[in-house]
Amino acid sequence: MIDDKSKKTNNDFYFTDSSRIKPLIMDKSKANVCSSQCHPADKGPDGVHTDCLGFFSMDSNVPGLSNVILANLNLKDQMEYRSALEGTKYGKDFGIHSHREMFQKIEDTFKFCAECKKLPQDLIDPAALRRCKRCQNVYYCSVSCQKVNWPTHKAFCKKLQLAAIDRLVEWLVFTGVLPFTTCAWTRQPHELTGWGDWLSMQENLEYELDKVLKSDPMRILWSNAGKPRPEDPDLKESVKRVTSEFLSRPLTIGFGLKTFGFNPLKQPLTIHVVGASHTETLNARVTDMDELARMFSGNQGLEVVMVGPEVVKGDISRPPLKALGPKGKVYLSAHKEFYHIFWESMVETREAARPDLVVGFHPGFHASQGLAEGWLPTLLLLRDYRIPSLFTFYNDLELKYSLQILAELECHIITSGANPWCSLKPEQVQSCPNKLPVYCNGYYIAFLGAVEESQEGEDVEEEEEQLSHWPL
Ligand SMILES: [Zn+2]
Ligand SMILES: [Zn+2]
Repeated sequence: MIDDKSKKTNNDFYFTDSSRIKPLIMDKSKANVCSSQCHPADKGPDGVHTDCLGFFSMDSNVPGLSNVILANLNLKDQMEYRSALEGTKYGKDFGIHSHREMFQKIEDTFKFCAECKKLPQDLIDPAALRRCKRCQNVYYCSVSCQKVNWPTHKAFCKKLQLAAIDRLVEWLVFTGVLPFTTCAWTRQPHELTGWGDWLSMQENLEYELDKVLKSDPMRILWSNAGKPRPEDPDLKESVKRVTSEFLSRPLTIGFGLKTFGFNPLKQPLTIHVVGASHTETLNARVTDMDELARMFSGNQGLEVVMVGPEVVKGDISRPPLKALGPKGKVYLSAHKEFYHIFWESMVETREAARPDLVVGFHPGFHASQGLAEGWLPTLLLLRDYRIPSLFTFYNDLELKYSLQILAELECHIITSGANPWCSLKPEQVQSCPNKLPVYCNGYYIAFLGAVEESQEGEDVEEEEEQLSHWPL
């Protein structure tokens, strides 16, 4: 693990580049959260890449903002942005020279008047754009715009203050300082109700948090961020929130295993993460899913395979396991491929193990017709092969639409609702900050097979028996 982290920190600018791309990545997957008008008419050249949704959503809220982002990244268009995400442009043309410049460029992508949406270039005096002193997050072109906006902004100012700290602290994930070292679970997964319980298991929590606060990257961060360093207690809370977002993925997988009654202590298990994208695979480390092994200490071996057309090449690009993996550990790999094609070429030929569970983080198949079409073969495959499946969503509206889509496909919904391992980090929609923030993996749906077959008696009993092993 140490090797892996030190390897990451050697190449500083690799990280600086990726973290500069991050802000837009976070916006794109929530294209539809922003407002109902944001639904894109153009689903992009191939209907599967989600970044075009982000650009569309962004420009419909703040005209010209996507160009500001591309300019800050030294990219000429959306195609170059895509190739940067795919790793083909790293280290070449970003032209960044210092941490200060990097943080400045990130901040520049947030600079527009929250009231009239004007960008600095649209103002007679670009320097007139002033930041809200409370949240250090949103900007105004004038006192009058700020006054008009305050009744709306005051409901979000506090949360936006946290979001502004978190998006800087998040850089520590790229440097390898986060997530901090965590303990093997001393309690059974079903005994934990959420992050409060998880934190109470971390015996060395204060020591680990202090270590993060005193780390070199944390010092570099605040001497270059162009914002005052928050007080230690606030910074510690931010570290916890950013860590919760990182660990939300392995723990949601664990929650999925639990929901479907699997016991990793009794059998080795394979989990496929479908629709994996930059969010899960950009700069991913082979240790990224280790919390899952700590959750089920004494497990018979867990394998997590990330599959999706937007998977980014990196350390975890390696073949899936054909046979059983090492006991007590998680073996992580990634494949840039549509899931139904991966299934045909790898699962059916036994080059990859058949999954016990399939998980999709924020599939967004409700967001546009193009994406739904991209997801259709995968959803039908999961339904027809009766693969236990769990998908997550940012908010209850996404949950509702996705339930409708799955109902139309006659998928048998086992359960749905709020995810106990929802990220604690508030996420603002970059182009419309005065909106209720969303949280990664906030909600989930678990489904198994099709409605008809499960209503034919026998299957139901079998399922219920399987599910009764764990409290839901
Ligand atoms: Zn204004
Ligand atoms: Zn504010």
